[in-house]
Amino acid sequence: MEVKKETEVGCGGVPTAVQLEAINAQAKGKLTAEQVYVFSLRLCDDQVDRDGERFDTVALPELAKLFIGKTGIVDHKWSSDSQVARIFAAEVVKEEGISYIKAWAYIRRGGHADEVIADIEAGIKKEVSVGCAMGRAVCSVCGSEYGTCGHVKGESYDGTVCCAILKEPMDAYEFSFVAVPAQREAGVLKALGSRRTLKELADELGVQAEYRELFKQAQLGTQYQKLLGDEVIRLCLSLNLGMEEPVLRSIVSKVSAEELMKMKAALQARMEEMYPVRCQLPGAAVQDIGVESGFMI
Ligand SMILES: [Zn+2]
Repeated sequence: MEVKKETEVGCGGVPTAVQLEAINAQAKGKLTAEQVYVFSLRLCDDQVDRDGERFDTVALPELAKLFIGKTGIVDHKWSSDSQVARIFAAEVVKEEGISYIKAWAYIRRGGHADEVIADIEAGIKKEVSVGCAMGRAVCSVCGSEYGTCGHVKGESYDGTVCCAILKEPMDAYEFSFVAVPAQREAGVLKALGSRRTLKELADELGVQAEYRELFKQAQLGTQYQKLLGDEVIRLCLSLNLGMEEPVLRSIVSKVSAEELMKMKAALQARMEEMYPVRCQLPGAAVQDIGVESGFMI
């Protein structure tokens, strides 16, 4: 699923030697400290936001890596001219129990970029909108895939407010500057209506076909994971591991596709050990175990 969030721009200035090295690892040319302006951004954190969602704390380091090299654009225009900033470093910072991704970006000074720098300095371009793709959203109350269990974001269950926990970072997108007044009042940000979906962006940029293709692939991936989960549950039940289906479903919903593949392989191997003759039809073999187990060690 696509996730879009607004976030804050920190103070900026001249890069340190270490930062300049990281910048030049991203930049094509060799830039000097005088040529670039550096600022920090607070990207995603692990707190519940106004959409009733939060990023999984353990997913943040991987998501941070995905943001490195991503460009920042002004006015949602996708021309190379409007790509003014680029993230060159990102890490997870923990403060007062809150983990968040702190990123550093640079802007190459000169021309149009100087206006953007002046706006950042003045606090006008204080916020950026960031987007990323996450593989899964799970219910914070029961751990099921969000939307499959009946728990609703923002509702309270036995004193626990439900939220969707976003897991498995897949991609991070370009970020864009959102112009907000330095002295903004609460609520002004929402009135700007700058939240857009990837689909809207794709329509605007004329890349609908690419978007649809990606969407289709993502759906296929989700379906595949669902099938894998079903297969693992079926194997567990066939092997009489003593776990009820609801328990297995709950476990499977918390496991990644890679882990499911390993589980399936291990369970299949065990199945073949136990029911060598019927390994093609392991489900049917369960009834015949009494007859055929005579040769088993
Ligand atoms: Zn739930």
